[in-house]
Amino acid sequence: ANHRQRKTALGPCDTVFRSPDADALISFASNDYLGLANHPGLTEATKAGADKWGVGAGASHLVGGHALAHDQLERCLATYTGFPACLVFSTGYLANLAVPPALLGRGDVIFADKLNHASLVDAALLSRATLVRYPHLDLAALERQLRHATTGRKMIVSDAVFSMDGDIAPLHALLELAERYDAWLLVDDAHGFGLLGPDGRGSLAELGLMSPRLILMATLGKAVGVAGAFVAASSTVVEWLIQKARPYIFTTASPPLLAETVQRALELVQTGSDRRASLTRNIERLRSALHLQKFVLLPSR
Ligand SMILES: *Cc1c(COP(=O)(O)O)cnc(C)c1O
Repeated sequence: ANHRQRKTALGPCDTVFRSPDADALISFASNDYLGLANHPGLTEATKAGADKWGVGAGASHLVGGHALAHDQLERCLATYTGFPACLVFSTGYLANLAVPPALLGRGDVIFADKLNHASLVDAALLSRATLVRYPHLDLAALERQLRHATTGRKMIVSDAVFSMDGDIAPLHALLELAERYDAWLLVDDAHGFGLLGPDGRGSLAELGLMSPRLILMATLGKAVGVAGAFVAASSTVVEWLIQKARPYIFTTASPPLLAETVQRALELVQTGSDRRASLTRNIERLRSALHLQKFVLLPSR
């Protein structure tokens, strides 16, 4: 029963999923929240990007694979998120793997919500810091753990919108605890970026949170519809990641043509209040229909 099997899609990501071995299904299983993964304008931007950049970056970022398109994307993302600096990664998994090991090591402590995404768990293990997991959203337990950790550097790590249950971390309170106990706060906004906050700027922007101890990670493969991810932070942290983050340094840069596609996608996201409104309507429709059939829904927007 636990053997995993893949379903093969016969076409692009869409509201209908067609595979060779089943009837067409209505898909509730993608993260393409705004319907951008197969947007004609983005396909065009990708073709234009390929004409300009070819297909591959050809090298890692520090060895010649870092293109003007990556630079421009990083500046767009910094402006959009309101952070001083950004660093683009090939995937969200790699972006998460990059941060804790670059900033912490043996003798340090990572405090992680029990329901955090697997990549954050792997990142904590890779860092060799002590991993302390607190019960889901339990700030009192987290504070007790923070109070006990008297030596070493500290980092609190949390999904913003939890990827399986869809509930939202108390980011304001987490940042207060980070400040009170002199800890970093790493926020994974994979499912909030592009959707929550003014113009889809994300979960932190929704609450107006900003701090030098705040590190934001978000993916470009969900609401943004393309691929890749980024870390936004202070310029010092971003510069440190360029020097130290092995999942940034030792991998081929993502294709520059995709960095162009993502810039175009970000414009669509930023001006996408109609898309966000239509998502909200779909959510409401599903919610009320499921209620009628006596499903129990988790507390998620
Ligand atoms: C999807 C996801 C990731 C990984 O992002 P990718 O770009 O798909 O590698 C990280 N964190 C959370 C919470 C996610 O949902």
